Amino acid sequence: MKEAVYAGSFDPFTKGHEDILTRGLELFDRIHLVIASSSSKKALFSLKEREKLLKKIYKDNLNIIVTAHSGLLVDYANKNSIKFVLRGLRPTGDFAMEFQMATMNRHMSKDIETVFLITGKDYYFLSSSMVKEIHCLGGDISEFLHPHFFDAISEKLK
Ligand code: ADP
Repeated sequence: MKEAVYAGSFDPFTKGHEDILTRGLELFDRIHLVIASSSSKKALFSLKEREKLLKKIYKDNLNIIVTAHSGLLVDYANKNSIKFVLRGLRPTGDFAMEFQMATMNRHMSKDIETVFLITGKDYYFLSSSMVKEIHCLGGDISEFLHPHFFDAISEKLK
């Protein structure tokens, strides 16, 4: 079985993330959706909250394993005998950081291969931080999020 890890802060999980995950399932039999804690980004949802929401969204899809992880991604991958890391690539400045991360992961664990999917044309402008910002300023973000995340964010930022 071909498995991959798709990790991110997913704070919140956007339609851009969803698009990468869905398209990734055309390449991999199973994807581990790993919610990573980010030390540099201020979180809106706690790891537990994100894990709960994503588990609810994907509860009927046995090919998606939702889990929270706070250590190194390569450790998670190695522990679960996974060789592939799935990433999304937007034209809005992702490349340098993604290049660095993929190279570093391969340096730490030589069997890890990072696979990039170019962002869907409707989502290239979409980022979690921008969604939070727009919502805080009173804009409508419903079209960018799964309804479960939209309801949760509305509740939180009331
Ligand atoms: P963000 O930058 O939105 O906080 P994450 O850290 O959650 O994103 O990102 C996880 C992965 O998803 C990264 O590979 C990132 O490039 C990708 N990603 C994020 N937003 C999009 C999008 N709109 N389209 C495609 N890929 C995306």
